[in-house]
Amino acid sequence: MSDSQTRRRVLLKLSGEVFGGGEVGLDTSVLTRVAGEIAAAVNDGVQVGVVVGGGNFFRGAELQEAGMDRARADYMGMLGTVINAVALQDFLESAGVPSRVQTAITMAQVAEAYIPLRAIRHLEKGRVVIFGAGAGMPYFSTDTVSAQRALELRCDELLVGKNGVDGVYSADPRTDPEAVKLDYLTYDDALRKGLRVVDAAAFSLCQDNGMTMRVFGMVEPGNVTRALRGENIGTLVTK
Ligand code: UDP
Repeated sequence: MSDSQTRRRVLLKLSGEVFGGGEVGLDTSVLTRVAGEIAAAVNDGVQVGVVVGGGNFFRGAELQEAGMDRARADYMGMLGTVINAVALQDFLESAGVPSRVQTAITMAQVAEAYIPLRAIRHLEKGRVVIFGAGAGMPYFSTDTVSAQRALELRCDELLVGKNGVDGVYSADPRTDPEAVKLDYLTYDDALRKGLRVVDAAAFSLCQDNGMTMRVFGMVEPGNVTRALRGENIGTLVTK
């Protein structure tokens, strides 16, 4: 087996909230920092795929509440994720890391189509692969897609970066002063307690197929690199 086939390979899920710094649009200072932190891990030999969310532009469910057709609104949401993907590619290239964007909705002038074997080849060559447009299907979320991509690309771990929290809590820490951070959790517990760190479909996919998930805080500088390298931060979720 060649060296590139034995290296740690991870799938990082970044929500739109991260890209927008909590606002609509892009926060370039956050993008610069996150790209630099990804670059540090890639330079150590970690193979990194990234699934990007799009909540900093549109969420289908919210547009539906405002009266739009759900499927059409979801396509708008998916297009928002592509904007984040292209933005991250640009900041990664500036940080000296070669990268490719692959989208689940084909748009040849902007990105490659999602082709799993080609994605694996890019990863083996040290390129970051950024996955945009979710699953290409309405009624899905980028959380679920991150679990699916992690499985299909044979990643060692799914890493979920969060803006507001540094891991999974026993209850919502914003409303419950008794909430404590958990270092370890099973998928059964997460689903039974209805913990919404990622959606239930993402938890189920990981549980059914034995994918480990680590939920960690994005705000602490250096945490993205730590998580990508495999340091024990945040909350580990296993079967
Ligand atoms: N979306 C979709 N199918 C997918 C992935 C995303 O329809 O496979 C749409 C959906 O409307 C969603 C929006 O894209 O609200 C943005 O994605 P998501 O909410 O997962 O982004 P995040 O919350 O991670 O920023």
